[in-house]
Amino acid sequence: MTPKQAADPSGWKTAFAHTLRIPPARIKHLNPIQRSVDARASKVKIRLKAEVFIDEQPAEIRKITRKTFADVSHKPPVIVVGAGPAGLFAALTLIENGLKPILIERGKDVKARKFDIAQINREHIVNPDSNYCFGEGGAGTYSDGKLYTRSTKRGNVGNILEILVAHGAADDILIDSHPHIGTDKLPAIVGAMRQTILDAGGEICFNRRISDLIIQNGKIRGVVDKNGNSCEAQAVILATGHSARDIYDLLQHKGLALEAKSFALGVRAEHPQELIDGIQYHHSPRDPYLQAASYSLVKQIDGRGVFSFCMCPGGTIVPAATEAGQVVVNGMSNSRRNSPFANSGIVVQIEPADIAHLSGFGAFAGLEFQRQVEDACWRAAGMRQAAPAQRITDFTKGVNSSSLPDCSYYPGIVAAPLHEILPPFVAGRLRQAFVEFDKMMKGYHTSEALILGTESRTSSPVRIPRNPDTLEHVGLAGLYPCGEGAGYSGGIVSSALDGVNCALAAVKKIKR
Ligand SMILES: Cc1cc2nc3c(=O)[nH]c(=O)nc-3n(C[C@H](O)[C@H](O)[C@H](O)COP(=O)(O)OP(=O)(O)OC[C@H]3O[C@@H](n4cnc5c(N)ncnc54)[C@H](O)[C@@H]3O)c2cc1C
Repeated sequence: MTPKQAADPSGWKTAFAHTLRIPPARIKHLNPIQRSVDARASKVKIRLKAEVFIDEQPAEIRKITRKTFADVSHKPPVIVVGAGPAGLFAALTLIENGLKPILIERGKDVKARKFDIAQINREHIVNPDSNYCFGEGGAGTYSDGKLYTRSTKRGNVGNILEILVAHGAADDILIDSHPHIGTDKLPAIVGAMRQTILDAGGEICFNRRISDLIIQNGKIRGVVDKNGNSCEAQAVILATGHSARDIYDLLQHKGLALEAKSFALGVRAEHPQELIDGIQYHHSPRDPYLQAASYSLVKQIDGRGVFSFCMCPGGTIVPAATEAGQVVVNGMSNSRRNSPFANSGIVVQIEPADIAHLSGFGAFAGLEFQRQVEDACWRAAGMRQAAPAQRITDFTKGVNSSSLPDCSYYPGIVAAPLHEILPPFVAGRLRQAFVEFDKMMKGYHTSEALILGTESRTSSPVRIPRNPDTLEHVGLAGLYPCGEGAGYSGGIVSSALDGVNCALAAVKKIKR
């Protein structure tokens, strides 16, 4: 269909009837399955796949509604630490299986969190418990809400999407090949999920940063928060995300195994959205019925992958630091993706061998590497939440930018030599990659585009190893390292799937 035809579902029946060469009246029901943008030819098309019921009604038309669960308030409790996608979906799965979740979150509820986020942008003050990464909904809340995942073998992706729809997401996410929700819609969805948990008798505690584990006879017995309040249960699902560096410290202090793993670090690139639309849709300004265009780039440079990450069409770059003294950038967009900018992380894969000079930090070498680059960016931009920035073409030439174009990053940008600030093995690969990317997307390497440092929290540089059969920590029965912080997922949907899997593993053990 043309983008205009596809934008009006009331005309879909006629379009399918035309394709099937039957009168529209013979189509009794249309069940859309998949929708994608096909921009390969000069005329962009929307491809729609649907189940078509000709001369018959479907046996049942499924309606997605919020489930009500049996009360679990007196059932055996399971502690879930962290209310990000992994923790929230773990809590819902526990309820569904008759156990009581006690969800403990260091940050504030999703509404109160907004004030701290505004403070980072306006006052450059980072609250270490409430920011773009910490607080109800986790790192996925003030994001683009992209729901695309390659982790389809880890569980039922459709089920995760249906739960989001049942809590207020638009049902388009069930058919779009690259679904996204948008930061303007996510807080209400997270709030509705909280209500489902509370209605079923689960508990949710905010402003409680977990700082200790209760361990007896080689088994976990509970957790203790920073104020000394303890909470006990037979199982603890630890879903604290990749920025909870204090949790890694705690585990090490307790003598629990941790492993270094590969991760990625680089910059966030920002182009005018019109420029990206022109490249991807062969036409600018884009057709008003098309969404802002996105891209996905990957190139091997000197034995390491350099790739685009978390692309936010029509989005803004945001400050994702979790403490003072660091500058970390990431991206988000609202549901309409209507800002004039297109941003994306452009990051280099980092293997433990690349940071052998930090091997004295053991499993924490990657964390130390992130810390050093985040600190260098903070210093370069005046020790505030402003970000060091450079035009892409100046970066590849190795010269300072004498002026900077407009940028969506609210705390402000400062011209700085990122080609010198980033470690040489990262900067060198990025410089080559930008030139290579221009061969894939003519016009990508342009003086109109900016890069900001640093995109360092793409994935966890640490893994909390678990038994592949029971999903418990290899050295502590009853502790379930879960989600992105444990090193077993990346992104909203795969973290949600890991939350479901850890909860099911805990249910199996407790019920046995
Ligand atoms: C700005 C931004 C945009 C993003 N955009 C996207 C996107 O569009 N699509 C996508 O798939 N992914 C996106 N991501 C990544 C995605 O958000 C993460 O992959 C995902 O949230 C990880 O889920 P998680 O539950 O494992 O951890 P998190 O979401 O990190 O949640 C961990 C939770 O644990 C809490 N916590 C930490 N320590 C403690 C403690 N000691 N005690 C109690 N609670 C604690 C934190 O406050 C937090 O709420 C984005 C990330 C950011 C920062």
